[in-house]
Amino acid sequence: MDSGPGNGSASPAPGGSAIYFDGMSNSRHLVTLAFGDRLELHESPETAIRWPYADIRRVDSPSGTLRVACLTAPALARLEIRDAAVAAELISCCAQLDENFPGRRGVSAIVGWSIAATVSIAAVVQFGIPLAADRLTPLVPQALERRIGDVAEKQINAVFGGKTCDNASGRAAFAKLVNAVRESAGLDTSIRTAVLSSPIPNAFALPGGKIYLFNGLLAKAENPDEIAGVLAHELGHLKHRDSTRNLIYNGGTSFLIGLLFGDITGSGALIFASRSLVTASYSREAEQNADTLSIDVMHRLGRSPKAMGELILRVTGKEVDNSLSILSSHPLTEDRLARMSREDRPVSGPPLLTAEEWASLKSICKSASKL
Ligand SMILES: [Zn+2]
Repeated sequence: MDSGPGNGSASPAPGGSAIYFDGMSNSRHLVTLAFGDRLELHESPETAIRWPYADIRRVDSPSGTLRVACLTAPALARLEIRDAAVAAELISCCAQLDENFPGRRGVSAIVGWSIAATVSIAAVVQFGIPLAADRLTPLVPQALERRIGDVAEKQINAVFGGKTCDNASGRAAFAKLVNAVRESAGLDTSIRTAVLSSPIPNAFALPGGKIYLFNGLLAKAENPDEIAGVLAHELGHLKHRDSTRNLIYNGGTSFLIGLLFGDITGSGALIFASRSLVTASYSREAEQNADTLSIDVMHRLGRSPKAMGELILRVTGKEVDNSLSILSSHPLTEDRLARMSREDRPVSGPPLLTAEEWASLKSICKSASKL
């Protein structure tokens, strides 16, 4: 009898036990392993799953555990072996154990993350998306968050036809304002900010430390404190990773699946979700936390924490369609306004920008030279 592509080994040698995740459900299966011409996983004597040794790949795992996947098994199926002797036996059988897992390089972070995502998809099914998003957000590695932010940025530019405003004196004024707020918020210089040329009055934070202001919001602003308050509020969202949470929440299961296969850039879910980064509203709790940072920053700067609320109220006034404005993503509830008013103090710090700098910032999207 031909025993297949392996070698003509005798009847399967008994192995130890292991934990098997079938990649379809959230449940753990205790299986008994047997080392035949293929690896055999027995949950009961009469059922066996067989994995060819050549298809078995190591995936990220906690130390002390060998976790493997199989190229010819369901993509999310995993086998976990804690017994060192059994793990050693399996390693000795699998010559290609450490070759790249499905043909992608540098994805170990994503593979590791995919375990979390797998569990989370099950959590989405069991508990619904909000809870899963909450649990998942802290697990997203920062490098991945930055990549997501980069992609979201491109999508947002495409969706909104955004163009970065780069009038030199306007940029200098914007940098001064951003730095004052950032330093007061105790955040480092990795934060990136820009003004985009769009009439939509909005500001938003992207995963990975980017904050964007649409020129439409600058146009509505009457003083630097209003913009400083908004910037501090967005820093609050960044600090609490709210935009990442929202992205997971809005992209839902399909976004998680996109992450699983490392195909973030091609993910239709992200195209959908990046628009929702701008339009979907944050939770009441996220808004309160972002306001807390904004109020603290404005107090430290000796400026009015109420200014941001006044700006948002002004935006509400005449807009026919608020669906894309700052109001939709950062709903201004009565209690938010009341709190800002309550926290207001007499101005005690120097102006954040001179009148001239403020004028430059307001015209940041005007081209500097005309010929
Ligand atoms: Zn907000």
